[in-house]
Amino acid sequence: MTLFQSWVSSANSPSTAFPLNNLPYGVFSTKDKDPRCGVAIGDMIFDCLAAEEAGYIDLGDGIVFDVPFWNDVMEMGPNTWKQLRNQLMRLLSVQAAQQENLKTVLTPMAEAEMHLPFIIAEYTDFYAGRHHATNVGTMFRGAKNALPSNWLHIPIGYNGRASSIVVSGSDIRRPWGQIKGPNDTLPRFAPSMRFDIELEMGAIVGTNSDGPVTVDEADQMIFGYVLLNDWSARDIQAWEYQPLGPFQGKATATSISPWIVTKAALEPFRCQTPVREFELLDHLRDTGPMLYDIDLLVSLAPQGKGNSTIARTNYKEMYYSSAQQLAHHSTSGCPMTAGDLLGSGTISGPERHQRGALIELSWGGKNPITLDTGERRSFLEDGDEVTLSGAAHGDGFIIGFGDCTGTILPALTDPYNR
Ligand code: MN
Repeated sequence: MTLFQSWVSSANSPSTAFPLNNLPYGVFSTKDKDPRCGVAIGDMIFDCLAAEEAGYIDLGDGIVFDVPFWNDVMEMGPNTWKQLRNQLMRLLSVQAAQQENLKTVLTPMAEAEMHLPFIIAEYTDFYAGRHHATNVGTMFRGAKNALPSNWLHIPIGYNGRASSIVVSGSDIRRPWGQIKGPNDTLPRFAPSMRFDIELEMGAIVGTNSDGPVTVDEADQMIFGYVLLNDWSARDIQAWEYQPLGPFQGKATATSISPWIVTKAALEPFRCQTPVREFELLDHLRDTGPMLYDIDLLVSLAPQGKGNSTIARTNYKEMYYSSAQQLAHHSTSGCPMTAGDLLGSGTISGPERHQRGALIELSWGGKNPITLDTGERRSFLEDGDEVTLSGAAHGDGFIIGFGDCTGTILPALTDPYNR
């Protein structure tokens, strides 16, 4: 597949994140426009509500874009998803009719503020990257017990909080919590000093289910993907996590990138999960390539200046696909809902520079990394701006995700002083 040509000239650059091949979905506002659904094309945003009101888009159900979230379109199902993508492809193609009229529904991305693209119904985070699980497990429990005995058989996860999801660009306040360090005899209440990132992909469930679904059915239920940073307070997590898993250490915030990259746009980049030590049970078995070849990068800028790349990896490093995670999530009969967000788990590769969390990069703080500015980091410092970016690389085009950023604000002096 090569670059599809659009009449929006910035979309024809081989380096744009948003060529006609991509068409990701977001929610934007400007000085004059309330938040509304839009599609990224080059350096512009195509206003779905304006396009629908002008009769350019018609999903056969009256006006559907009069809400500032994509959940309603998700719930209309995969046939509608395909119909919308086809209409957008036709409208934005270099061969489109009425190009002069269509220009009136474009907004420069530079003038727009981005919002959460969908109402997060529920949020589940997994732990499905083998290198990450091995590294963290080694630090927490020793090399012999690094991978729990269930790890190679089921994608391990925990139910997170939908209320904690924020859009890229939101500041992240360093949390307080209960902490008991290895040298403390008793726990204390203090700001987290081991505040960390987790480089993940988020899969967005687009349809409802009420009972177990197969891996194939799960794949069909997924609407698209975002970048996801699961901010993690390691000192709070280490004390609280046994035996029920992460809780307050993961509840401060989770940032997502503002554009939902659809499964359709990622189709050319599907790839297989890795070779398995144990065959999975039938209901979790791979039935086709369900991971994606997406290059991922983490950068850190102290006080927002002097950006250093601190990790490079790829989504294909995951042991379980999102489809397998969703299938597993439903096995008990757990109803799944349009707007559910599934975090992949931290994505790390086998090499040190491929690790998607500071706890792995600095090996628990024992071996700090050095930034391009010469500063050293074991965990996040106040003022650090962290950016996740990701792109699938095609033949002369990119399917980009748009950045997922967040800046660390200092902990409050007294979190109960209101
Ligand atoms: Mn996580």
